[in-house]
This record gives sequence, structure tokens and C-alpha cells, in this order.
Amino acid sequence: MSKRDYYEVLEVSKSASADEIKKAYRKMAIKYHPDKNPGDKDAEEKFKEAAEAYEVLSDDNKKARYDQYGHAGVGGAGGYGGSGFGGGMNMEDIFSQFGDIFGGGGFGGFGGGGGGRQQVKGSNLRIRIKLNLEEMVNGTQKTLKVKKMKMAEGATSKTCPTCNGAGVQMKVMNTMFGQMQTQTTCGTCQGIGKVADKIPAGANAQGLIKDEEEISINIPAGARDGIQLNVRGKGNDAPFGGIPGDLLVIVEEEVDKTIKREGDNLHQELYVSFAEAALGTKKEIPTVGGKVKITVDAGTQSGKILRLAGKGLPSIDSYGKGDMFIHINVWTPQTLNKEQKDFFEKQMSSGDMVAEPSGKEKTFFDKVKDLFN
Ligand SMILES: [Zn+2]
Repeated sequence: MSKRDYYEVLEVSKSASADEIKKAYRKMAIKYHPDKNPGDKDAEEKFKEAAEAYEVLSDDNKKARYDQYGHAGVGGAGGYGGSGFGGGMNMEDIFSQFGDIFGGGGFGGFGGGGGGRQQVKGSNLRIRIKLNLEEMVNGTQKTLKVKKMKMAEGATSKTCPTCNGAGVQMKVMNTMFGQMQTQTTCGTCQGIGKVADKIPAGANAQGLIKDEEEISINIPAGARDGIQLNVRGKGNDAPFGGIPGDLLVIVEEEVDKTIKREGDNLHQELYVSFAEAALGTKKEIPTVGGKVKITVDAGTQSGKILRLAGKGLPSIDSYGKGDMFIHINVWTPQTLNKEQKDFFEKQMSSGDMVAEPSGKEKTFFDKVKDLFN
């Protein structure tokens, strides 16, 4: 569904004055009000659409941004249900906006909204954690010191004197639909039902103080770079009676010096001596699942790639696993003692040890091609 232009929604011109916009919205709100159109989904959508348009066009700041950038400028590009202002107002927001339009506190009573003491949640915390490949594959546990807001010791609360702990205030007012009793969130306690009584030094008005906590985080096997883990209840504390926010842990991959990752596949270099390549050898190499023994055949050429099937990372979107590729490099000796020098000189002059490619050797490009087959 493409979003309609806000001016079009309110049926006003772009040059409409604040007063004209207000009047236009008032007209729409009355026409599409849910009390007048019970069960009419289309009317409800129009009602919300108008409220959203008014919310933006009645605010000089938002209006300016909307005029310049359109819906994207006011965060409403995603249509209803989006986050931020402009997108997805709920009925409670709309009714609380009415105070301004109809000179009252709102209509209330609609859709069972307005309801009672609210559960307040502390804010979320966000931290980054570096993991090596092995930790990401096998899972791990980390203990971290996290700075957070905690309820100060000795902070006490008392029942909100304005709402007597109910979290809401009732008002009787005259609206265009007659006298109505409305329920609004208590302005003194913001719906919590409690306010601060004693606040220790260093704490803020909500009784919270800066603190540090050691938190143990369980990283499940199969974590990946950029993944976000949600540790419930380990964020900032909420004011009196609320529940703490969450700790959001973002996983970052630590660059490994020996093992390189490419998707689910892993690569590493293996250096073998000239003699090992000639005679063949067995080597133990590290993988994310522990050490693995591999055989280097006699006569192995530099540049050969060994593939260890299933020794890569578990695939994130299937049950499969990546592979580990071992890139073999034959190490040419850089210093030779007298004896070794004599040996190689003898080989060279006899003509026994010469490069003799048979034509069946795989070129670099063949090897690259093989990796993808
Ligand atoms: Zn209150």
C-alpha cells in the first residue's frame, strides 16, 4: 500500500494555514470517528490516517521535514505499523492528541484503552563482544563488566498522590458527543502508580544510579558476525516497580591469524619442507572442531589444495557444513650448509632432479574452478 500524501488526506492545500489544517482534521475526525462508524475497518483506517497526517502537519518541525523529504523525512515511509512518529499511531495516541483539537482531554472509553497502571520497562543496553571462530562454532560463556543504571540502595517510593497508585486519572468533560468520562495516564507518575520518596545522593530523580555489574553471557553454538543476542532483564533498571530492560549483545568476529573464513568455508596455509613434499608426511592441523591429522602425499607440489569436507562452519540456513581448505606451500630452503649444498649441486649436475610437468598438473585456475565444484 503506498502512503497517501498528508495534504491529500486532510483535503487541504500545501499552503493551508495551521488553523485550516486543524479545522480540516477536526472535520475528518468527526466523520470517521470509531464511535460513529462501529465495526467499519475502512473508517478506522481513514481515522488513523487523518490523525497521522495531522500529527505531522500540526508540528512546524515535522511539517518542514515532510515538505522537504516527504514521508521519509518523518519516519513514516514504512506505512502504518512502522516505528517512530508519523508511522503507526495507536488509538491511545490519537485520543490523547484530541485535547489540543477539541479542548478536552480526549474521548477515552474506546477499544478498552487507557487501562490502569502501566508496567514500565528500563531501557535496553547494547554491547559488542569479540569471539574467535572456535567460540562462534562451539558456543562459549563470557563474563563481562557492564555499566548500567541500577535502583540506588536506600531509594524508596511512595504511592503517587495524584492517582493514588492507580496510574490513571479520570476526568469528566464536555465533548461534541456529550459529556464523557475519560481516563488518561497519570501525569505525575507516568502510569507507574509510584513516585520517589527518598533519593540517596548520586541517584537521579527516578532513584537510579550509575553502577557496574558482572554479567555472564551464554553464547550458543553457531553464532555469527553481526548476530544480536538478547539477554532478558540485564539492561537498565526501571524506576520503582518496573522491570529492567534487556542487554543486547552484538557478536563480532575476531580475525584469526591462521584460519581465514569465506562464508561457511575456512582456509589455511600449510608450509611443508622440501623433503616433506618429496617424501610425503603426516601433519596435525588446527580446525574449529579440534586438531585433525592430514596426509601430505609424496611428490606433493606447492599450491596443492586439500579439502577437508565438513570441517568448516555449520551453515546458518541449512543443516550442512562448510569445508576446510588446506593450501600447501613447499618451503624452499633459504640457507644451506655445506653438505646440503653439495647434495643439491650433485642433483643439479646429474640432471636427475629437474622440473618435469606432465601437463596433468592443475593450474591455479583449475584449482579455483575445483573449489566451486
Ligand atoms: Zn500517578
